[in-house]
Amino acid sequence: MDEEKSLQPKNEEVAEEPVKVSEEPAKDSGEKPAVEAAAETPATEESAAEKPATEEPGPEKPARARTPRRNRHKTTVQLQINFLTLIPILLMGILFMLIGMSMFKKSAMEEMFKLLRGTAIVASEHFSSIDGYLHLEGGELYFDDERISDEQSYLDRVKDAYGIEISVIYGNNRVLTTLTDTDGKTMNGTMLADSRIVMEVFKGNIVSTEKNVIRKEQFLCVYVPLLGRDNVCGMIETAISLKQFNHMNRQFYIYIVLLTLLTIGVTFLLISFFTRQLIKRLALIRDYLEELVTKQTAEQEMNPLVYRYNDEIATLAEHATTIATSLKTVMGTDPLTGLYNRRAGRQHLKELWETSHKNFTVFTIVIGDLDFFKNVNDQYGHDVGDTVLVGVADILKKHAESEGFAVRWGGEEFLMGFTAARDETYEIVKNISKDIKRQTFYSADRKPFHMSMTFGIASFAGQENIDEVIRIADNNLYEGKHKGRDCIVS
Ligand code: GH3
Ligand code: MG
Ligand code: MG
Repeated sequence: MDEEKSLQPKNEEVAEEPVKVSEEPAKDSGEKPAVEAAAETPATEESAAEKPATEEPGPEKPARARTPRRNRHKTTVQLQINFLTLIPILLMGILFMLIGMSMFKKSAMEEMFKLLRGTAIVASEHFSSIDGYLHLEGGELYFDDERISDEQSYLDRVKDAYGIEISVIYGNNRVLTTLTDTDGKTMNGTMLADSRIVMEVFKGNIVSTEKNVIRKEQFLCVYVPLLGRDNVCGMIETAISLKQFNHMNRQFYIYIVLLTLLTIGVTFLLISFFTRQLIKRLALIRDYLEELVTKQTAEQEMNPLVYRYNDEIATLAEHATTIATSLKTVMGTDPLTGLYNRRAGRQHLKELWETSHKNFTVFTIVIGDLDFFKNVNDQYGHDVGDTVLVGVADILKKHAESEGFAVRWGGEEFLMGFTAARDETYEIVKNISKDIKRQTFYSADRKPFHMSMTFGIASFAGQENIDEVIRIADNNLYEGKHKGRDCIVS
């Protein structure tokens, strides 16, 4: 205790053996308001370097995090999803359409051959049942002596009913037929060119072929043997041109194409609708972060829509809000003392003023400045100065906890806000002052010393803005310094 020094020459109550470590500060004290002095004097290089911790942030934007170079082409997730989904859907749609068409064609062809075969068999039975010897005479067909060219009407009826061509072939000659050539003339008397078919039918077999060419056109044909008195004498030919067959099916192809396009469209719209919901939630997180980046505040709320589903997007949103909250804390906290920094302090003061202005309630602010703090730095070094600041901040924090807040307003200058009237606050400040003076600080070589603080108080009394209240407190602090420090001026 013998070696204990005080930096407060006039404070006998605290300093057991007061030793002035420096006379200097007393000289210029009182020349400037304490706040200005703190703001204007960088004092030493070291303290200037420390300053940014408490300075209000400048207007310049924060340095952007180094990210890999962006692709030059700007795009959207929606566009990418559209692209990624539309192409496979289109390909699949086209594939299903082609498969559907070919399956339909196959089954339609089977049906057509059934019709051709059935009609030919019935016709064959009809002609074979005519009693008599089926033979050709002068290009005309006879049963015994009966000319059956009149049977043409039977064939015409078949053609009308089923839309297919039908011919009675004797040997390999069409003796009765509904077929006409390109000029519309009957093809009676024309020959069946394919000898393999003739051979097969004469063996008693039914022949079906997709690739028979009649009058240079491809036909689907069925040949059924026609029996004479004892054996095969000819055949019934039923046929339909491929062109006509396709024409008949064209409408179904159109249906298949339309159905495919409809399916593609509906699928695409559904995907687009659902992805839009996802992207909307992503965009809300982007907007939230964008505001954080551009305004450097974390005041905004995350839209609850983002948490609609418990998925990765909700997790992302949670992480974004956690980052924002941490950032808000970091941005509003003085790293040395853990008190609010000037920026957060201003926000709190603004809120305090707004609430009081609206509800006609009272509040009081206190600005305290450590006395002869420069001497601590000069005598014991900056690190010891820092421990003093931390110690004082802890005391302020403790007293402001219940009904106020404490801010590191400048280097060794602190501001407190209380939702209390002047007298009540005055009592609190008296206790703070006592606690500070009671606190023993130590130099690096364990020499104890004490500090004191001068306070300026101002209560809200309808001032137009918070700055006016601050100015009054500041003036009172200045007055306190002028009076000789270690006092409370209200
Ligand atoms: P007064 O009684 O008139 O207030 O005198 P003072 O010495 O306390 O005031 P002055 O404004 O002359 O000095 C304030 C000093 O506070 C100057 C600066 O080096 C110091 N300071 C400001 N911020 C920090 C800090 O973060 N750490 C330390 N160690 N010193 C600081
Ligand atoms: Mg100061
Ligand atoms: Mg000071």
